[in-house]
Amino acid sequence: MAASLPSPASPPFSLATRNERVGELSSQHFDVLVIGGGITGTGVARDAAMRGLKVALLEAGDLATGTSSASSKLVHGGLRYLEQGNVRLVLESVSERARLMTLAPHLVRPMPFFFPVYRKKPRPLWMVGLGLWIYETLAMFRVPARHRTLRGAAARREFPGLTDDGLDGGVVFWDCATDDARLVLETAISAHEAGAWVLPRMRVEGFLTERGQVTGAHAKDALTGVSHSVSARVVVNATGPWTDRTLGLKRQRARLLRPTKGTHIVLRRDRLPLDATVMLRTDDGFIFAIPTEESVFVGTSDTDYSGDYDRVRATGDEVTSFLEHLNRAFPQADLGPDDVIGSWAGLRPLLTGGDDDTRELPRDHEVVLDDDGLVSVAGGKLTTYRLMAEEVVDRISERLASDGMHIGRSPTGAVRLPGGVGVERRRGELSSMGVQGRALDETIASEFGRDVADHLRRTYGGRWPGIIDRARADERLGLRIDPELPYLWAEVDHAVENELACTIVDVMRRRTQLILRSRDMGANCVADVGARMAQLLGWS
Ligand code: FAD
Repeated sequence: MAASLPSPASPPFSLATRNERVGELSSQHFDVLVIGGGITGTGVARDAAMRGLKVALLEAGDLATGTSSASSKLVHGGLRYLEQGNVRLVLESVSERARLMTLAPHLVRPMPFFFPVYRKKPRPLWMVGLGLWIYETLAMFRVPARHRTLRGAAARREFPGLTDDGLDGGVVFWDCATDDARLVLETAISAHEAGAWVLPRMRVEGFLTERGQVTGAHAKDALTGVSHSVSARVVVNATGPWTDRTLGLKRQRARLLRPTKGTHIVLRRDRLPLDATVMLRTDDGFIFAIPTEESVFVGTSDTDYSGDYDRVRATGDEVTSFLEHLNRAFPQADLGPDDVIGSWAGLRPLLTGGDDDTRELPRDHEVVLDDDGLVSVAGGKLTTYRLMAEEVVDRISERLASDGMHIGRSPTGAVRLPGGVGVERRRGELSSMGVQGRALDETIASEFGRDVADHLRRTYGGRWPGIIDRARADERLGLRIDPELPYLWAEVDHAVENELACTIVDVMRRRTQLILRSRDMGANCVADVGARMAQLLGWS
């Protein structure tokens, strides 16, 4: 059983704390300065802080503002990597998947996947079954359930909307879905509680150097326009797709990465009623149709990208292409552009590889230590972030050891994320621990609705009473933000006061998924969310 570290009382994870700390930055000396507040940077900050190092993390925008809120939101082994023969990556990924299911059972939840086979393509049914057997063996069978092979009629019965023209059958297997932005947030909160200074809206604009060694960075506060110098023994570049650009700040011409663009679209689930993620074969790979509570996320594309890294958007051609694939697979659904209620796109920080085909580029990661001492961590996946972070801090510890500073081994594999404490998964369902906890679940469901109770448990895990207390204390905060979705007004207050949300988009896109999941991208509630935040943050 994973333990939780006793956290010394830490100040609220709020804008006020952030502002106070930014004001003191220049007078501090850190052991580790992390640049980038995606999953990689927050993972490194958490690991380093838990090993007792004094850590600062600077992020140009909001936490998870980059790729880490634009993924397919899967914590998975990656069947495709098995097909590519990358057994090491699959092994790492399935081990980390099992670990994250324990460390964050509320955020990493098992989900069935269906891999259909048409006319022996992409492989005969028996071969897909064999692949799944290897996949589960690598995971040492730590999966919620073993795979099942469905032949012709059985597959048609379980997936009635799927075209049966040439359908041989398929395989049902298990992987996990997550909320990527909240996985980053909880990792950041955990780092904060371990003592790290997590400071969003601080863009690094240059490096401090002394006798040829990187000794810190200059960063500009996006909220005040004021620049600050931050000094540290070790600086880590964890800027994902921006890694090469960050290296460019010290005039280093680097090409560690070849970022590729991936797009997703969002449909209402009543227009595509799926109970499992369905993998659809395309000419150059697969797209996933991933059901969530009331929506279906569909993606992803994988193409080279040379545009503005800060403005990665879905294009009309990509949306049309997704709809064509879906209509071929689910002809009765007859989906059109009006069925698309949202979209997102991001850049994969992929390592450069020899292959022209972007889908064949390696998904591994690399830790690079420059002669001037800067550590860069490039590539990787959401799924393997904890392991990557551990590797980075191990490399840092070698460096610190040469200065006579010795730190212990990483504890992160055995310490739950904050919301993971006090929740358990029983027969696939998530509930609070103990009889009392389970009784509370039932009370909340009858008071606010079953969907609200499920949403709060899946989003906040053991910390959900923080929302419920607010909702009970003020009737208005117990109301829904959007009548069709389970989000309560109490979550806006909680996001501002305990989750360092500073803008309306922080709340509506990354603390909640209102922009992705509401029928009108949140247009019906954006003004009211803004009004509430204005009250809380003292905006004019
Ligand atoms: P980012 O999340 O991009 O973080 C880098 C951060 O650095 C950004 O927030 C940026 O604002 C900040 N930054 C940049 N420059 C500066 C600066 N000068 N100063 C301060 N901050 C700066 N992985 C999975 O495991 N499962 C999946 O299902 C999955 N699906 C994916 C689907 C798509 C379409 C894509 C694109 C990726 C997917 N991945 C998936 C991969 C995964 O999302 C990424 O590997 C991971 O999110 C990268 O995280 P990161 O922290 O390295 O980068």
